[in-house]
Amino acid sequence: MEKTWRCNVCGYLHKGDEPPVSCPICHTTADRFELVVEPGAAAVEEGRSGLLQEMFGSLVPHALFAHFPSALIPTTVLFLGLFLLFGSASFETSGFHLLVVTVLSVPLTLATGLYDWKNSFGGQPAPIFRKKIILACLLLCFGLIAVVWRWQNPDLLVDGGWPAGLFLLLIVAMLGCVTLLGHYGGMLVFAKNKK
Ligand SMILES: [Zn+2]
Repeated sequence: MEKTWRCNVCGYLHKGDEPPVSCPICHTTADRFELVVEPGAAAVEEGRSGLLQEMFGSLVPHALFAHFPSALIPTTVLFLGLFLLFGSASFETSGFHLLVVTVLSVPLTLATGLYDWKNSFGGQPAPIFRKKIILACLLLCFGLIAVVWRWQNPDLLVDGGWPAGLFLLLIVAMLGCVTLLGHYGGMLVFAKNKK
């Protein structure tokens, strides 16, 4: 039977007779991999209660909260784009409100991310987690600046010029942050579930 190896640093699971030379997720060396003891047929026997237990046992709060910013920011971009296209002020107002909700959701996403990092990955200081934390902090900073700026100047985008351009650049930077955060998050989730 094929063996399963778990990376002690990031939790990545590898199938094979030997651990990989280096972890594809956190790039640590083979000696950080440990052999996973398969529960085998006993787990299947547990049936329904085992399945429910696994469902709730594997419920990851961050996976729920991460959807808020990753869905809200593209929607904010959509509404601001519609404003630029059609010039209707209601699109701009909707975009601003979505931005406020986004900024409110980021601390929750960051908190659940840190919680899952400690719980599911043992708080290991692998580069992928450091990148995610830095990106989340950047996202929060850009978002706070954009919200306060637009709050103080309701005509910021209507007036146009370089301030509007800079504001839109902040929003695009936020979109870049959530895209990368989702990309790294996906790497961690798929690495963990790969069996
Ligand atoms: Zn790893």
